[in-house]
Amino acid sequence: MAFRKKFTPRKKFCRFCADKEMPLDYKRPDILRDFVTERGKIIARRITGTCAKHQRRLTTEIKRARQMALMFYTTVHSTEVKKKTNL
Ligand SMILES: [Zn+2]
Repeated sequence: MAFRKKFTPRKKFCRFCADKEMPLDYKRPDILRDFVTERGKIIARRITGTCAKHQRRLTTEIKRARQMALMFYTTVHSTEVKKKTNL
């Protein structure tokens, strides 16, 4: 369970409900990345605290982002993207 270590949320709340400005969009892989593991798996709702409505949208957007090649399935690729989007 080593991969869970960095994910210890104290307060659970839906980030998209809390921040209305936060775009839930496949064009924002930088945001979507917070909701997938480093291996590219979508993190379960009970861990992130995302509400049902937004989790559903999130899943769709993540899958879309993958198809559009904005997000990748493997660690190597995702770190590459991270570098690009942060600069
Ligand atoms: Zn929500």
